[in-house]
This record gives sequence, structure tokens and C-alpha cells, in this order.
Amino acid sequence: MAEYFIPYLKWVDMKNLQCFFILFLSLSTLQQRFCLQAYGPENQLKKLEKETTTIKQEIPNVIITFLGAPGSGKGTLAQLCAQRLDFKVFSTGDILRNQIAQKTELGLQVAGIMRRGELVSDKQVTQMVLEKYDENGDHPVIFDGYPRTKVQAKSLLEHLKQLGRLEKFYVVALEIDDTLVVQRLSNRLVCSNKNCQAVYSLLFRPPVEPNICDECGGVLSRRPDDEPESVQERLRVYARHEKILMDFYRESGCQIKTLDVGEKTIPQAFWEFCSLMGIEEE
Ligand SMILES: [Zn+2]
Repeated sequence: MAEYFIPYLKWVDMKNLQCFFILFLSLSTLQQRFCLQAYGPENQLKKLEKETTTIKQEIPNVIITFLGAPGSGKGTLAQLCAQRLDFKVFSTGDILRNQIAQKTELGLQVAGIMRRGELVSDKQVTQMVLEKYDENGDHPVIFDGYPRTKVQAKSLLEHLKQLGRLEKFYVVALEIDDTLVVQRLSNRLVCSNKNCQAVYSLLFRPPVEPNICDECGGVLSRRPDDEPESVQERLRVYARHEKILMDFYRESGCQIKTLDVGEKTIPQAFWEFCSLMGIEEE
């Protein structure tokens, strides 16, 4: 045994410990590789939650709109992209709520419209979202729930063209079977505490205690529009909208990518999104 190690130690001496360093680096790379392979989807999610650093700082400078049925998980995916990849996410709902809370001129108008039970016009939605977008500069962006109509899509493309950023625009279409959407949404529970509204999934993210919110202890319940019959109707409405939007994007020569999210966990969909956009994990 000693004869075996002596030449090795001499070699180490000669190289002035450089080789130890190299050996250490290659071993830790191997270990990382092995860990990634050994992680199952559920562990991947836990791993994602534990990781504090972003996957890669240099993400492509793209502008993405997610197109996907209710329950396709586009909101969750957008959140993950914001946390892990440093994307800015603009959700129409959040922007509207913010404007109303801040009592801006537009926010007050919108609050009035909503009180009267009317719909906020395409022009108003576009103005709010694009104002927010412009504040952001040239940072990589994901639009969640925008554009919702052809008029909104037209305004967005015109705006990006003016800024010279049209070639950075991607439509990422999340594909999922209707039956899976019904299954997912009927397994979705929302915290009844108005200040919390945390969302749980009995399939992907069950609460620790049944029907009790992990965050605030509020009671969890199913939204009326997540009942199977309501979901079917929402999907019918969505399919009409999606067709109009997709036809418009195709006619306009937009870059369209398809992400199959059916039968996939959230981390799996996330990794697939990364590879689709050419973003590599470190
Ligand atoms: Zn809660």
C-alpha cells in the first residue's frame, strides 16, 4: 500500500498541490452531475425552492408572452422564471390592482369602470401595461395575461417595433389537454383570507394540514369557477381567444414556440422552458 502511495505523493509534491485542486474541481463537477440525475421531479422542486441564486445571470434579452389555457400553469411558470432567471414579469391583473391601489388617474378610471361592472378597454389595459414595461428598460420580460385580445397584441407589436425590439419578441404557447386542465383546476384550493389568497394544488403543492393555509392558517376552498362545468366553459371561451391571437401572431410573422406542459410537473415544465429558450442550467 505504501509503495503505491509514495510515487503519488511525490507527484503531488512536484506539482505543488495543483493537481489536488484539479482533482477536487472535477470531483465536485461529477458530484453535481450525479445529483441532478438522481433528483426526481418532486426533489427538483424542493431543490428549486432551496436554491437562492439564479440559474444564470446572462439570460437572453427576450420579450415573451405566455399563451396558455387557464390551469396550464403559466402564472406559476412566470413566477419561477422571475425567481430563478431574473425575468421581469408583467401580469395585467397585478398592474391593474397596483394602479387602483396607488389611485393614479388611470387607476381611478379603471376602479370606476370595474365598480359599474364594465370591462376595462383594450386601450386602457395597453396604456397601463406598456407604461410599466417602458419603466423596465431593456430587461428580459415575460407578459402574463397580456395581450389578451388582437387589439392589445397589435398595440404591443407596434410599440416593440418603435423601440426596435420586435425581433426579440417570442410567443410561448403552453399546450395541455382539456381533460388535464379540468383535473388540475378541480384539485386547486385557494386561501379564503383576502389578504393572503395563496394557491395550493392537491396534485403539486398540497397544504401541510388538509384544507388549512400553510402561510396564514386560513381555510382553503375551491373557487366556484374551478368547478368542472365552469372550467369547460372557460376553456371554450379561451379556445376562441387563442385562435384569434395565434392567427394574428402567425400573420405578423412572430416567433412562436410550443411548450408541452401536459402530464408534467412544474419543475419539469420549467426545465423544458429553459431548454426551449436556450437557457442552460449552470
Ligand atoms: Zn393564507
